[in-house]
Amino acid sequence: MNESIWNEIRQLIGQSIDTTIFDTWISPLNVIEDSNEQILVLEVKNKFLVNYIEQRYKTDILFFSKKVNPLIKEIRFVQKKTDTENNFNLESKSAIKNKNYNNPHKINLNSNYTFDLFVTGPGNEFAKSVSMAVSENPGKTKFNPLLIYGGVGLGKTHLLHAIGNYINKKLINRRITFSTSEEFYYNFIEAIKNSNTKLFSERYQRSDVLMIDDIQFIAGKERTQEEFFYIFNTLHQQGKQIVLTSDSPPNSIKGLHDRLISRFQWGLFVDIQPPDLETRVAILKMKAERDNLNLPDEIFYYIAENISSNIRELEGTIIRILAFASITKSDITLDLVKSILVDSIQKKEKIKISIDDIIDTVSEYYKIPTNNLREKNRSKEVAHCRQVAMYISKMYTKYSLKSIGLHFGGRDHSTVIHAVKQIAKNKDKDKILMNDINYILSKLGN
Ligand code: ADP
Ligand code: MG
Repeated sequence: MNESIWNEIRQLIGQSIDTTIFDTWISPLNVIEDSNEQILVLEVKNKFLVNYIEQRYKTDILFFSKKVNPLIKEIRFVQKKTDTENNFNLESKSAIKNKNYNNPHKINLNSNYTFDLFVTGPGNEFAKSVSMAVSENPGKTKFNPLLIYGGVGLGKTHLLHAIGNYINKKLINRRITFSTSEEFYYNFIEAIKNSNTKLFSERYQRSDVLMIDDIQFIAGKERTQEEFFYIFNTLHQQGKQIVLTSDSPPNSIKGLHDRLISRFQWGLFVDIQPPDLETRVAILKMKAERDNLNLPDEIFYYIAENISSNIRELEGTIIRILAFASITKSDITLDLVKSILVDSIQKKEKIKISIDDIIDTVSEYYKIPTNNLREKNRSKEVAHCRQVAMYISKMYTKYSLKSIGLHFGGRDHSTVIHAVKQIAKNKDKDKILMNDINYILSKLGN
């Protein structure tokens, strides 16, 4: 098992369970790297914790691990080793890395990332069709290199694997090299240390298809970029296909060599945009179906409306609902889904909004002076607006009841609680109120 798989699992768990539990118990676990793909060995700080974590979180960790890599059959916890043992460990670790380095063609493609399982919409269909064209005729289209860029969790890595999987299946004897740019960098450094950069280079140059994920990572790393430039040129001259991804358009990646950028321009840049509502619903439905999860449309729409920027998060939601339902054995209702999602939806908003922003936005929306909200004005209309502002402050910021009260003319915390309850109760029945709040939230979001 290697660290990148564990990082992926850990990320998935992080999206799916309570933050405190995650930060306390899961996040500090380290993977012990070895070549066994079926067993994930995790290192825990002390013996007491081994039992504790094993009893409480083993099932969950296994559940999520299988999502990332279905081969994983077992989770083991071991106690952290003493220093001398650790030294040994470091040594064996680099031996493993060396092994990988010796074999960059090792196909580590995720078989779940295929074109069939890639749902399209206006934001990604061009990227997908170009990727398919490249897969049909690697190195023979104008799209060489093909560079796919876009935000986190929008499907760049998925498309890269899909290209690899497709070529692997259709064409025999193509050497596909798939590497994150981090791995490329790491292997290169390792090669420098062992004075065999020539070998390193030759091995990459033997690819028929070279795919490097998240190329932005080598920006600012001089020698790595030079080496990559060299490999790139050799492959390109021989008509070998190169596919890259990055988190932003190459010309805006700081520290990326101009000569690399101009090489990239020989081919094609395509971007992936965040999915629209319909696409998000389609993705959710597809994922749910694969997990034999039957949900009514209103639930899919609820999730899709509330989780909008990142497909990985959409997936995480389905997994969370599954986990929740299997643990509690309860039916999946919209209310249950709301309660499962409430934390992640609020957490996101909580980060950036201040009470002053809320007061400004609410008073602008209801067309009343901000001072009316901040003072002990008792008119009924103002009181209502103030309750809305208090409600939003409680739900979407991290301020305590007490400090929220202070922002609204020095009211005590029980007044704030009352306001929150009142609005929470009314908003489900009162469409106008619901609209008001959604509109104010969308203003605050911008
Ligand atoms: P990126 O590399 O852009 O950060 P990933 O390719 O890792 O994003 O995608 C994150 C997750 O979302 C993956 O599990 C992937 O399978 C899934 N995903 C992304 N786009 C789609 C899509 N269009 N249809 C289905 N699943 C998708
Ligand atoms: Mg990626």
